[in-house]
Amino acid sequence: MSPPCCVTMQLFYMAAIINNISRPLCRAAFFPLSFLTCRALSRQSSIPSSCSIPLSLFCARKYTSESTLYRYKGKLHEEMAAKDLPLFTELTAPNGIKWTQPLGLFINNEFVKSKAGGTLSSVSPIDDKEITSVYAAESADVDEAVKAARAAFQSSEWADITTAERGALLYKLADLLEKNLEVLATLDTWDMGKPLSATKNEDLSESISTLRYYAGWADKISGKTIDVGPSKLVYVLHQPIGVCGQIVPWNYPLMMAAWKLGPALATGNTVVLKSAEQSPLSVLFLGTLIKEAGFPPGVVNILSGYGKTAGAAIAAHEDIDKIAFTGSTLTGRAIMKAASSNLKNITIETGGKSPLLIFEDADIEQAVKWAHIGIMSNAGQVCCATSRILVQESVYEEFVQKFVEYTKTTSVIGDPFSENVSHGPQVSRQQYERIMAYVEKGKAEGANLVLGGTTPGGNFIQPTVFKDVKDEFTICKEEIFGPFVCIDKFTTQAEAIKRANNSSYGLGAAVFTKDNTRAHVVANKIEAGMVWINSSNDSHFAVPFGGVKQSGIGRECGEYALANYTNAKAVHVNLGTVL
Ligand code: NAD
Repeated sequence: MSPPCCVTMQLFYMAAIINNISRPLCRAAFFPLSFLTCRALSRQSSIPSSCSIPLSLFCARKYTSESTLYRYKGKLHEEMAAKDLPLFTELTAPNGIKWTQPLGLFINNEFVKSKAGGTLSSVSPIDDKEITSVYAAESADVDEAVKAARAAFQSSEWADITTAERGALLYKLADLLEKNLEVLATLDTWDMGKPLSATKNEDLSESISTLRYYAGWADKISGKTIDVGPSKLVYVLHQPIGVCGQIVPWNYPLMMAAWKLGPALATGNTVVLKSAEQSPLSVLFLGTLIKEAGFPPGVVNILSGYGKTAGAAIAAHEDIDKIAFTGSTLTGRAIMKAASSNLKNITIETGGKSPLLIFEDADIEQAVKWAHIGIMSNAGQVCCATSRILVQESVYEEFVQKFVEYTKTTSVIGDPFSENVSHGPQVSRQQYERIMAYVEKGKAEGANLVLGGTTPGGNFIQPTVFKDVKDEFTICKEEIFGPFVCIDKFTTQAEAIKRANNSSYGLGAAVFTKDNTRAHVVANKIEAGMVWINSSNDSHFAVPFGGVKQSGIGRECGEYALANYTNAKAVHVNLGTVL
């Protein structure tokens, strides 16, 4: 274990013990006592603050954990409905960044209260403390947002501007994201626990590039003329679909919004976008930038809200023409059913159980490093994470041993606001518990736990590695969405391909080999939307992203995503056929 990791672990264990002791006290409103006890212990330790979570955060964890549970049961939602929230609040994040946070629903370029006054609580998984509450949309609010989006779609202010002007608005929005990078990155780190270095250098950078990429496309949408003979002119227009409902997950809150808004707006649609209930804040802040960029009212409407209320209302709405969704396969199915009410156009990006194959001729050191990125990035909360590793038997033990060693020294768990931390908490207590249940399941089924499977405290999970994981084990079949990898060995190339495809999912796949022919043959045979040869989890805003089988329908990013947001209209012109 690396020194920072080791020290952080000790800190977590101390905090966990104190939490358990202090829980009854906290319940009896003696919270300040446990807080001071923690502070005193913290001062006694020689732990550098740059690689540790302040103990006070963990003291607070148990104190607020019941509120967090209520949130998942929807009780907090009801309790909070009585509160009269303001539409904005001043926030100061743990890294000292301050800003004015909108809390309302963003409809028609204004922040408004939800009609029924419902709210939801945004809780940081770093310490399980509430950051703030925001207004939560229900069906009546979705109606308002859709009306605004429909009116904007039909208004000359949006429908009749030139395509270059549409592009200019997107460029302006990208510039505003760049200007507000610190706040937006801070928001996603605080709200969902991803290291600040990642929100800045990956999420924000990708979001800005995506918006610029689609800004460039706005005036390059072109149809075709089709030669059917001299008596007729046929041409095809690529027209916007209309009002698009977009439902995004919590693992890349702002980036998923940028992936969806870019192609929808470049092609002239209007949008009702719903954030995930775990991470509503950065996308709400984006609303202020949409207005500042100069988008006409109603072109982009942003709703916070729960899936079963606001999400379901969007999916079933009769005046929404298209649904774009990213999230779990289960929800994807529910959305498809609801969207069938008016035969909405759909794009779905769901989960995966992506394989990573390592052949005996591969560069093992490189395979180890890429495999680590493939599963441990974003604490494993990546839809295309390479969570199943298959290694040729002659290099199996060598790979496992090197992978475990590398993971121990490379993954640094801790406060995601600390610079040297690579691995923050899971997004919520619920996700934490779900992943830990899979650890027990793996052990019970007979897989061999060689690293992790434990927690250093809070919602944090040690990188977890199981070897000798058979295809029929639950942990090898189901998407776990955590820092949790299954490894097993194979003998032949044919077996490797067969087992890689032995999944209901088909999002990504990685192949490690120095044999060029083998690399391309395997890439061709694997059932996946994306294949990485000698790397893992590459993505680029210009390259299509999406899956086959139960990993989704349609593609995001690149030119391919434009097709999701346009209808082809064929126009037949009679050039002289007289009846
Ligand atoms: P989820 O599918 O429940 O939520 C994703 C989005 O869908 C959220 O905005 C949510 O509010 C909304 N939603 C939920 N139920 C809905 C409904 N009935 N109708 C319309 N919208 C609805 O996912 P989750 O609970 O946040 O995470 C659970 C699992 O989903 C994860 O463990 C992981 O397997 C998967 N997941 C995948 C991705 C991805 O990028 N593919 C992202 C996040 C989660």
